[in-house]
Amino acid sequence: MTDEITALYIRLSDDDGGDNESNSVMNQRDLLNGYVAGNPVLNKTRIKEFSDDGWSGTNFQRPAVTEMLDLVREGGIQCIVVKDLSRFGRNYIEVSEYIDQIFPFLGVRFISVNDGYDSREHGGRTAPLNVGFNSIMHGVYSKELSVKVKQSYVTKAKKGEFLCGVAPFGYRRSETERNKLEVDEDAAATVHRIFSLAVDGHKTTEIAAILNSEKIDTPLLYRKRKGLTLRGNTATVRDANLWLDNNVRRVLTDERYTGIQVSGKTKKPCVGSNRPISVPESEWIKVPDAHEAIVPQEVFEQAQRVIRRFRMPKTEKRHVLFAGKLKCGHCGHALDYCKTKNPYYVCYSGRLTDDYRCFTGRLYVSDLKELVFSAVRTEAEKAKDAKRRSDRKAKAARPLREAAAELKKFSLQAGQLRRQGFTLYEEFMDGRIEKDEYMADKEKYTQELSRTETRIAELNRILDNKGDKKETAEHLSLLTRLVDAGDVTEDMVSLIDRIVVYDEEHIEICFTFGDACNG
Ligand SMILES: [Zn+2]
Repeated sequence: MTDEITALYIRLSDDDGGDNESNSVMNQRDLLNGYVAGNPVLNKTRIKEFSDDGWSGTNFQRPAVTEMLDLVREGGIQCIVVKDLSRFGRNYIEVSEYIDQIFPFLGVRFISVNDGYDSREHGGRTAPLNVGFNSIMHGVYSKELSVKVKQSYVTKAKKGEFLCGVAPFGYRRSETERNKLEVDEDAAATVHRIFSLAVDGHKTTEIAAILNSEKIDTPLLYRKRKGLTLRGNTATVRDANLWLDNNVRRVLTDERYTGIQVSGKTKKPCVGSNRPISVPESEWIKVPDAHEAIVPQEVFEQAQRVIRRFRMPKTEKRHVLFAGKLKCGHCGHALDYCKTKNPYYVCYSGRLTDDYRCFTGRLYVSDLKELVFSAVRTEAEKAKDAKRRSDRKAKAARPLREAAAELKKFSLQAGQLRRQGFTLYEEFMDGRIEKDEYMADKEKYTQELSRTETRIAELNRILDNKGDKKETAEHLSLLTRLVDAGDVTEDMVSLIDRIVVYDEEHIEICFTFGDACNG
């Protein structure tokens, strides 16, 4: 046994795509332990395992990797072993900086088992790692993967498999058959009830009110009570029950209740994007008899006719100034706009249930405008004060141009130091200098480098303040311009994140900037 320490680094995350099996923590651990056991040098060292479970490789902000790299810097680790390069990181620049410069500088050996790379054999150069780098560079890896995933998705969808996360209300995922839906009797009873009420000629709002009065669980509440996984946060699901007409409509228009499987209604526009976009219905993948029907086809069609009969004629979309901004402070739903001579907002859920004690009055648009205008004026005053403060501070600070020049100088110096350290390491490995000399010089470089890095961080902080100052000034000029306009405009409303209405007297306006909320 030697005093040297070998670090095994393991990373598991969702960005590994479909290859979860071979990348599982256990598989990575087995592979690394197997490798170390078979290596006559490493198997005499002490082994320390670092594992980041559920962390993306796109940066180094991961707890275990941070701990490991800190130890590396302190000289506590002599060798790092990973399964492949992308386990260590997916950011080409950061990864190559470590392998090209930092590790050689610190005399740390780096081994990537599946890439067949060992820095001791390759003189610390990354050139032989091209294959490994290619796979992480520009996310090529994930792009290829995404094409493969997409092809397999279409194949499965055409077989009628259920591929979304959460089963539609009334169904659950089969425990015996993969990607298959089966009827969840309790919830299906509610689905039956909704369809039969519709067939009897009830409007969706009437159906919602009936379900509320009978205290029937909404789909979300049902999932919560059954302890099923929920999309989003469970804590936001309230225990009081509230069906709205759109919950009812969603059930009544879901073709899957007739046994048809529908897939591919949305797609992701590009790799790495999480916001799905809608796909036209003609491109959806529909497979009949994919699972047991809850509602016969005739009943479904009859319900569609009833809904259509009651649907409000589509008016051209009137533009409403505060659209999407107003929320009821009691039930959390959007307030509804009522167009009259003197237009106003009301909370509609208040009419469907008494459970939330919603605000029942009318909030007139004219009053709301006045309120918003004065809130924006207050924000403008605040911005004026902030600018005054930041101007005073700027005067006290040293000239920025000087700081920028200094930063450039120190950055160059840091690069130079790293390169010198690398050359030194090469000289040592080639036997051109003795170990003592190497260790002494290395110490010198390390200290110098750390001093330089500290200075760089300080200068960056100074220059960041400049950015703040510019922002404050822009913010102020925008607010001043809006207040000077003398009216509530679209531009002004776009600064508002939300307006929460508790009653006519208690209204909270939250802006998109800062963390300001005006009561
Ligand atoms: Zn409400």
